[in-house]
Amino acid sequence: MFNATVRRAVARAGRPVAVPKRNLSLHEYRSAQILKDYGIAVPRGAASTTAEGAEKIAKDLGLEDMVIKAQVLAGGRGKGTFDSGLKGGVKLISSPYEAKMYAEQMLGHKLITKQTGAAGKEVTAVYVVEREFVRREAYLAVLMDRATQGPVIVASSQGGMDIEGVAKETPDAIHSFKVDIHEGVTDELALKVANSLGFSAKAVPEAAETVKKLYKVFKEKDATQIEINPLSETVENKVLAMDAKLGFDDNASFRQEEVWGWRDFTQEDPDEVEASKSNLNFIKLDGNIGCLVNGAGLAMATMDIIKLYGGDPANFLDCGGGATAKAIEKAFELITSESKVTAIFVNIFGGIVRCDNIAKGLIATTQNMSLNIPIVVRLQGTNLEEAQRLISESGLKIFSFTDLDEAAQKVCQLSKVVQMARDIDVNVSFELPL
Ligand code: GDP
Ligand code: MN
Repeated sequence: MFNATVRRAVARAGRPVAVPKRNLSLHEYRSAQILKDYGIAVPRGAASTTAEGAEKIAKDLGLEDMVIKAQVLAGGRGKGTFDSGLKGGVKLISSPYEAKMYAEQMLGHKLITKQTGAAGKEVTAVYVVEREFVRREAYLAVLMDRATQGPVIVASSQGGMDIEGVAKETPDAIHSFKVDIHEGVTDELALKVANSLGFSAKAVPEAAETVKKLYKVFKEKDATQIEINPLSETVENKVLAMDAKLGFDDNASFRQEEVWGWRDFTQEDPDEVEASKSNLNFIKLDGNIGCLVNGAGLAMATMDIIKLYGGDPANFLDCGGGATAKAIEKAFELITSESKVTAIFVNIFGGIVRCDNIAKGLIATTQNMSLNIPIVVRLQGTNLEEAQRLISESGLKIFSFTDLDEAAQKVCQLSKVVQMARDIDVNVSFELPL
């Protein structure tokens, strides 16, 4: 919820930034296993975290034509490049020796694709599968759609590598089918979708079955996204899910223990993982004002007002109703771990969490950490007077306000001063205490 709201605020602010979604993505080999459990045909294969393991899988498959696929939580692997120089995260191979050789060049290396950004993602496993001989490659997805507030099936005959390109150049080649959540996918709807995939008539019945099964996975596993690209028709007119990207709703994690047990933390932002351990929501943006807030609504308002006064948030930490001294310290640690941060803005509305407790937490934290960037605090709500007294008596250089406009102006101004000083390599001291 917090992340979705902030993402909307970011969108409104009119600047594209990569804000992570708070939902779970699984590796392809895990996703493929789920599909298989539901009777959907996937290529035979297995995953390994070692080169020897990959060699053994290839040996056991005993085939002449296989594919080795780097497992990272991002699409576009086929056209990706490794930091080792190797081109392509999906390679055709014809021997166990080759499986080992490519696994060595993939494992522990970063794969950079269209979706990973320049930093890339580290490959912790490879998936070795039988190679399929395909007639057609289609695209099929089941998604939760904001506009219709329900599931939607997206299908295209132009599947394969680059669905974003298809959407841009030939949007007519992409068909959407709204699913009535009460009715589910009827035979009629399944057939309509199957007919839009561009498969031969022989493959249509199996494609329709696949559509129904995918919707079953979507519903029963609390998925928010199932994307099969490509869904292929083989030369024998079989329908195969040759790649799978499944995403799951974090609000349902409590009833999907098995799926959440497959979470791969190595693919997530380490700071965000760290924050979630302390029950903090953390999202990173590309400005330089670190923000500590409570609640998504306040985060949005904070975003807007910072922008209004010409500032740019570096990140948002939401401590919700649990702004204990310990949580505040953790939050400050995370906020200041980003060297680009030039000022901290604390905007908290004391309701369940009282202002004086926040003030105590802030004082303890600033005393413990040797911060040399300015802190601007705007508190409102329960026990405000006590909080103000504590801050002013602490002798710490915390800029305290009750008015949001004044506080936002101050933090934007101070952050600019610090940035300018950094640019010309001058040390402006905001060391605490005074
Ligand atoms: P992505 O680039 O991350 O989407 O990775 P994919 O798993 O979709 O693989 C990229 C592309 O490789 C696919 O779109 C296929 O065109 C091709 N590919 C992968 N496995 C096979 C296979 O077994 N047979 C054939 N013919 N093509 C394959
Ligand atoms: Mn794909």
